[in-house]
Amino acid sequence: MDNPAATDATRTAFEDADIRPAAPTCPAGLIGGAAYAGASGPPLMIIEGLKRVFRAGERPAVDGVTLDVYEGELLALLGPSGCGKTTTLRMIGGFEQPDAGHIRMRGVDITDLPPEKRGIGFVFQDYALFPHLDVFENVRFGLHKLPRKEAAARVGEMLELVGLSDLAKRKPHELSGGQQQRVALARTLALAPPLVLLDEPFSNLDAAMRVETRQEVRALLKKSGSAGILVTHDQEEALALADRIVVMEAGKVCQIGTPDEIYRHPVSSFVASFIGRSNIVTGKAEGLGAETPFGRVELSKAVNGTVDLAVRPEQILLEPHEEGEAEVIGREYRGHDQLYWVRKGERRLLVISGPAEQIEVGARVNLRVCDCVVPINQDIQSLIAE
Ligand code: ATP
Repeated sequence: MDNPAATDATRTAFEDADIRPAAPTCPAGLIGGAAYAGASGPPLMIIEGLKRVFRAGERPAVDGVTLDVYEGELLALLGPSGCGKTTTLRMIGGFEQPDAGHIRMRGVDITDLPPEKRGIGFVFQDYALFPHLDVFENVRFGLHKLPRKEAAARVGEMLELVGLSDLAKRKPHELSGGQQQRVALARTLALAPPLVLLDEPFSNLDAAMRVETRQEVRALLKKSGSAGILVTHDQEEALALADRIVVMEAGKVCQIGTPDEIYRHPVSSFVASFIGRSNIVTGKAEGLGAETPFGRVELSKAVNGTVDLAVRPEQILLEPHEEGEAEVIGREYRGHDQLYWVRKGERRLLVISGPAEQIEVGARVNLRVCDCVVPINQDIQSLIAE
């Protein structure tokens, strides 16, 4: 194998490339937070300063989380294991009581309400279907307050929405994982909640099914008009599904933004490295340009002084040249693209290029940055050029 990075392609690629470790904490005051572009009114839910400490003296599991969710929006809470995503979701659902902070839905403070009084739907990780009830009865379960005929009509509507009308008589064990997921969603959506919470909803599905199901779930939520908050540690899932992503680390919100904002304008080396891959290099900036190990590069915003720059692997072009400035030290062919590890002096960098041209390990190359790169210093505000 040409790949000098050992096991997990995503993480070790970072470790092997010449990048510094992610900042241990989120930079204060740099969370971004553009409103949802599809908003047609005020936020459905406003969460302010949510905090949860499980053990006195320990770091809070959730530490001052502030965010909003709009009607019909799909928001993803994304971050590494233990960063407080599930605890945040459980507090929103009323399954966990915050030590500080407020949750308001449509202007009403629901912080102290029990889950059943919030009118919020919840899709559990294991779907929590009743094994002895068929699909129809599972979806009807929450509709016991409706007259029988009305409930049956609503179930029919929901099964049609999720495309399971033909399987109404099946028991959960006679369904695929993706179909069970859709039953759970139909059961939740039958109650027409303004907001549905989904905790790692695709973790029980295999990779192919996950890709298919997540698009179905997005389409179903959009069709139903319910907003959704989804917890995931899978950046690809968040990028593919969400209208906006809330990136969390160590109990705090690091950045809120659209998938494109988060990917193309990360506010810290943590976000730049957690969402996709980044080579973090130092440059000397003057306005919209900076001198870097790649020569002069364009910057996404004007700054002055020494800056850390997140250079995405796909922003670097490899140009084979006998006397090139760098050497290819590893290559991994992936069909749709290729990963290259290159060494320039003491520095190792990760590059992603198309599948067509194949450069052998040991070849000399020149490096060219073909796009604007993003300055990500923690104190970036103080460096912004007038
Ligand atoms: P994962 O992706 O692994 O599910 P997460 O981001 O959802 O992680 P949480 O489950 O919210 O993280 O946990 C945040 C922190 O709070 C972790 O350090 C966890 O160990 C701790 N924690 C969660 N629930 C409890 C609890 N009931 N008692 C004590 N500590 C808890």
